[in-house]
Amino acid sequence: MTSISEHLRQIKDELPESVSLVAVSKFHPVEALRQAYDAGQRIFGESRAQEISQKFPLMPDDVQWHFIGHLQTNKVRMLVREVSLIHSVDSLKLLEVINSEGAKVNKVINVLLQLHVAQEDTKFGFSCSDCIHLVESGAISSLHFIRVCGVMGMATNTDDEVEIRKELRAIRKVFDTLKASSFADNPYFTEVSMGMSHDYKLAIEEGSTMVRIGTSIFGEREY
Ligand SMILES: *Cc1c(COP(=O)(O)O)cnc(C)c1O
Repeated sequence: MTSISEHLRQIKDELPESVSLVAVSKFHPVEALRQAYDAGQRIFGESRAQEISQKFPLMPDDVQWHFIGHLQTNKVRMLVREVSLIHSVDSLKLLEVINSEGAKVNKVINVLLQLHVAQEDTKFGFSCSDCIHLVESGAISSLHFIRVCGVMGMATNTDDEVEIRKELRAIRKVFDTLKASSFADNPYFTEVSMGMSHDYKLAIEEGSTMVRIGTSIFGEREY
């Protein structure tokens, strides 16, 4: 446990200034988050709405909570006040629900559009072409309590660096395409969330602006 701050320091030393670090604290106790906080970490990533609700009141107010897991529409209400960025938006229906829950509390919700590029079918997200079509259709621009801040994705969990890079590049390419078209004049569309413990160095080389790292900071999770 004492090494959380050391792990953080090592990772931070390697990150370019332009890349932000989401410390993925899912399944870890608040004491572990507290150690990371004391070492200067402010952005924490969680994958279950209940877990954010539980940890939120136990951590200082300046923590930024990022939701990174698969989000069911009936859980949106639970986290809309606490969350500062939802990485894992994977349907228009979910965008509409987030929008209406945001409207109820008068809060514009920051989201990323999740892309499915991995070869595993357990990973959620839009196909690259569906994502581009959705944005270009204009369906999101009428959702006034949604602010699309970028895209998110996960590469296949493999040792094949060529495959990982190919998938990371596909994520970056969707970002670049949208940045050059629909979001050209949108100052908020800036984030490419990709890179986890095993592939974040590759992800940075492939144009990540935000890495989500759990195991390399907190150790193995207890399921
Ligand atoms: C758990 C999780 C991570 C962190 O994974 P590690 O391998 O522990 O770094 C990153 N992104 C998402 C979406 C996750 O669910």
